[in-house]
Amino acid sequence: MTTSNSNFCPCGSNQNYTECCQPFHVGADLPVTAEALMRSRYSAYVFKNSDYLLMTWHKNTRPKQLDFSQDNTTWNKLEILNCKKGGAKDDKGRVEFNAFYVQDNEIRLMHEISRFKKIAGRWFYVDGVLD
Ligand SMILES: [Zn+2]
Repeated sequence: MTTSNSNFCPCGSNQNYTECCQPFHVGADLPVTAEALMRSRYSAYVFKNSDYLLMTWHKNTRPKQLDFSQDNTTWNKLEILNCKKGGAKDDKGRVEFNAFYVQDNEIRLMHEISRFKKIAGRWFYVDGVLD
């Protein structure tokens, strides 16, 4: 992080990382909406922050571990397309998004509808439908 541009949060919010997803990643704050959790999980993929991803994964669907050591994916951009529920007063939500990434020197697109659940005031990622 040497130039001011690189301080922008990778989730595409046009906010500084320190005012966007970082407070969630360091545990200083909790995302209020499913979309905010979705964004912070995308940023966690950008930073290969497996601890945060596991911590925000519903226990029924959470993998035992995430290993990014062999991973050559570069995440380029997140586009939130649609949100259903997932607000501060909801306990379920769906977020539809496009995520653009480069793998094996090819630009690829991942389109997913992710499902989220709030348990005891915390949002968790449950699963996603790819299409
Ligand atoms: Zn962010």
